[in-house]
Amino acid sequence: MKRAIIFQYFSPLIQSLSLVFGLSFISLNLYAEIRTLSNDINLEGNFVQGGLVIGKTPPNSRVIFDHKSIRVSSNGTFIIGFNRDEPSKVNLEISTPDGRAINEDIRVNKRQYNIQRIDGLPKSKVTPGKPEVLSRIKKEAAQAAHARKRDDERFDYLESFIWPSSGRISGVYGSQRVLNGKPKRPHFGVDVAAPIGANVVAPASGVVTLANPDMFYSGGTIILDHGHGLSSTFLHLSKLLVKTGDRIKQGELIAKVGATGRATGAHLDWRMNLFERRVDPQLLVPPMDTK
Ligand SMILES: [Zn+2]
Repeated sequence: MKRAIIFQYFSPLIQSLSLVFGLSFISLNLYAEIRTLSNDINLEGNFVQGGLVIGKTPPNSRVIFDHKSIRVSSNGTFIIGFNRDEPSKVNLEISTPDGRAINEDIRVNKRQYNIQRIDGLPKSKVTPGKPEVLSRIKKEAAQAAHARKRDDERFDYLESFIWPSSGRISGVYGSQRVLNGKPKRPHFGVDVAAPIGANVVAPASGVVTLANPDMFYSGGTIILDHGHGLSSTFLHLSKLLVKTGDRIKQGELIAKVGATGRATGAHLDWRMNLFERRVDPQLLVPPMDTK
């Protein structure tokens, strides 16, 4: 998020630096913008489906996003985010301690997702899971949901995020397959192809709220909470190096890449949630440098 401010003020400089050092600054700012709601209230981030936006308001303001009250830190910072299929307008209400009331419909830009339609497939031969498997899946989903309910005062999310792993990007946020006309669950993470045992580091600081070495779908799984309900989830890990409750610094080694759970091959699947909203991690990091 800090990058966007830098870009705003030093844009000509950064553009010339980009020409010298490559094009690494460009995609970062594809959507990032600053919207000013009042002289002391502004929003900065990606006003796009899957995007995150950081708000700054006078301390002790009350903020209601999409008709729900959200946390405002003592310094006046808050965070909002948009779903994959977020409607084009989401309501934001801010009341300041000096009695001002702002009510704004936040415009959210639409995105194009990669939709793959495959027709004429033979009827699925997959049999429904055994009751014990279904109850395990339910229990694990509840575990993850519980971890993502956490709402801490910490604002680790203000750090500029870094990639947790490096490699070719083999899957992106929002993509979806439609099989025989039936839409499957969209893909919400960014997949980084990396060998089993490759390092996974914390993209930003946080607290580990879930560390389960063996979940049915996602195998070795870690949820790292960055504050205000924003969390990262890392899937299919072969080795977990942290445990629930650990305080982690940005860049710290937390796990090893794997192919555990229902994975087609070794990769890191990195997802991000703002409570129940699924946001796109890739919007927070610079372009992948695979060299
Ligand atoms: Zn994935």
